[in-house]
Amino acid sequence: MGFLSGKKLLITGVLSNRSIAYGIAKACHAQGAELAFSYVGERFKDRITEYAADFGSSLVFDCDVGDDAQIEAMFTGLSAHWPRFDGFVHAIGFAPREAIAGDFLDGLSREAFKIAHDISAYSFPAMAKAALPMLNDKSALLTLTYLGAIRTVPNYNTMGLAKASLEASVRYLAESLGPKGIRVNGISAGPIKTLAASGIKGFGKILSVVAETAPIRRNVTIEDVGNVAAFLLSDLAGGVSAEITYVDGGFSQVVGGIAEPAAG
Ligand code: NAD
Repeated sequence: MGFLSGKKLLITGVLSNRSIAYGIAKACHAQGAELAFSYVGERFKDRITEYAADFGSSLVFDCDVGDDAQIEAMFTGLSAHWPRFDGFVHAIGFAPREAIAGDFLDGLSREAFKIAHDISAYSFPAMAKAALPMLNDKSALLTLTYLGAIRTVPNYNTMGLAKASLEASVRYLAESLGPKGIRVNGISAGPIKTLAASGIKGFGKILSVVAETAPIRRNVTIEDVGNVAAFLLSDLAGGVSAEITYVDGGFSQVVGGIAEPAAG
């Protein structure tokens, strides 16, 4: 019996087996959770259906979080199988390519700002609002954020603004849902080579600088993030809400460029 046995969790954001959401699904499954999945785009249906089967699930929903009707339809579809459930993972981010490359102001546009905030930030509380009637007491909601929300990271640009909004939504959602017995948290993950991350200009350099200077002297993995996510989604974390937990090997606490590289 794992510490998530008896819990039903919806996992968004699995696109490949390198996705952070895949690592979270793996850890939650290992701890006994029942899982459902959402993806975006008909062409990914077969792939996500296969991943879901690996985790003993046949619940797979197509949902573009940029569309309220699709969010509603996903929870209506889920309610046919799970009238009530215990939380979800929001592992969704998107910004137009020009808004995550080069100079911040050069890439800034009203349209790119809107898209980045709509898909990467608004969608988290929007999903919470739609799911609320189905959420059990002691449910937990979790999103994924990045250091670029609170520090300037080269090229992260407009996405940093969207992540700052997402982190604020963790706090406001926690305040709104806490009295209903629901906790809300975020994980600020260190850089991991995923499809979304490879859209960020200069991402390879970020990976190598972090591996050389983070206190643990390596990059974190989707398993590292998955294990902390499983804990935060469980009743073991019953006293933790409105929190951004860093799973970055300590990098956020390091003054850049000073640490010695790893020996050997
Ligand atoms: P990924 O490419 O594997 O996942 C991104 C997911 O967002 C995909 O599943 C994609 O389908 C989904 N998505 C994009 N637009 C969507 C839409 N309109 N509707 C529904 N889903 C949509 O990459 P990842 O790195 O695993 O990203 C997951 C989350 O982790 C993102 O929020 C990302 O910002 C965050 N994060 C990533 C890193 C990193 O270095 N990889 C670090 C910190 C935080």
